[in-house]
Amino acid sequence: MKIDLPEEIVAIKDVARKFAERRILPIIADDYEKHVMRREIVEEMGQQGFFGCLVPEEYGGTGTGYLSAVAISEEISKVSASYGGSFICQLAGPPLTLLNYGTEEQKQRYISKIVSGKFSVLFAATEPDAGSDITAMKGTALDTGDCYLLNTTKTWITNANTADIGLVWVYTDKEKKHKGMSCFIVDLKNTKGISAKPIKTMGLTCSDVGELIFDNVEIPKENLLGEVGNGYSMLMSTLSNTRLFAASRALGVGEACIEASLKYARERIQFGKSIGDYQMIQNQLVEVFVEHEAAKLLVYQVAINKDKGINDMTELATAKYFAAEAGLKAAQTAMRIHSSYGFSLEYPIHRYLRDATAFPITEGTSNIQKMIIARNILKG
Ligand SMILES: Cc1cc2nc3c(=O)[nH]c(=O)nc-3n(C[C@H](O)[C@H](O)[C@H](O)COP(=O)(O)OP(=O)(O)OC[C@H]3O[C@@H](n4cnc5c(N)ncnc54)[C@H](O)[C@@H]3O)c2cc1C
Repeated sequence: MKIDLPEEIVAIKDVARKFAERRILPIIADDYEKHVMRREIVEEMGQQGFFGCLVPEEYGGTGTGYLSAVAISEEISKVSASYGGSFICQLAGPPLTLLNYGTEEQKQRYISKIVSGKFSVLFAATEPDAGSDITAMKGTALDTGDCYLLNTTKTWITNANTADIGLVWVYTDKEKKHKGMSCFIVDLKNTKGISAKPIKTMGLTCSDVGELIFDNVEIPKENLLGEVGNGYSMLMSTLSNTRLFAASRALGVGEACIEASLKYARERIQFGKSIGDYQMIQNQLVEVFVEHEAAKLLVYQVAINKDKGINDMTELATAKYFAAEAGLKAAQTAMRIHSSYGFSLEYPIHRYLRDATAFPITEGTSNIQKMIIARNILKG
């Protein structure tokens, strides 16, 4: 379905597509098997201005908005969902949280370096026993008077082993539950007591995911982000931005799967005909095509609404849930249509499927999106 994008967004989407085809496509198959993440690619995307769409020019951004950001991240994800994931950290998560809650000094110090790709950044909320139920986290920051003493183990953190800067959520007062959670800016490269180790994953293998341990880490008082006890609402605000880019990543992979499936269905001959001539294959193709088109409309409409200042959690959860499931189904269908060839490492289909398996998990599982939608629509 044609989405009537403004000319400048069509142009920026084109730049992103060409970048992905020139810079990522030639190396992705080999790197994927070797689990190689190339930081220079993230830096180059920063230099291209891809991560600056949501940040005003005074902090090093371009301010072109959510629609352009979604369009760029979709194109990068179409070639690599691992690099498509960079938009969650470098564009939507920490930079906007700093922009919305940081002091002027914090904004000046970090935002332009993050969106330019100079600083790699992470945000760390998840712990071994606190996934969907983030309030179950055990991590604490003790106010010693001179500094905060941070103790926590964070897991499943994107950029755990490579980031320069992290936003880390812990309790400053566990008794107060979610009203006792706070967020800290951590200089990961120049602070004692921090260790990281990678987690080996079945997909997204060109991104760095790992565990981070903070053992009596001294955090300067000025590194508190926002107010003490406001961490939970800051985290919800962060997720309200990152979630859209989990959805646009799924769109990119869905599109790649459908293109590959259509091509294969036209070319593969069995019983003297293209397999695309068989109604059962047509049915499989039509289902994923229609769901992808619907996902695209949802994701783009949420971006358009966000550009108008509308930040509707039901819309966002709807788009994320639907796009993640549509992306995964498109990858599963591509595998069935390609059959044994899809199962080989010669074709990219295994990559799409391995990556898409993460879509209903990251930035809030599909069940959690359904809970948000149900809670809001039942409110009346
Ligand atoms: C590749 C990857 C990158 C990630 N990057 C980051 C990152 O950068 N920073 C970060 O903080 N975290 C990150 N995460 C963690 C991610 O946010 C969590 O995995 C996610 O929130 C789900 O938590 P969990 O995996 O512990 O599942 P759990 O919360 O343990 O859930 C297990 C299952 O139970 C279901 N479930 C849980 N509660 C309910 C309920 N009330 N009703 C119905 N069903 C329920 C879930 O939907 C799921 O199916 C990443 C994860 C992955 C896989």
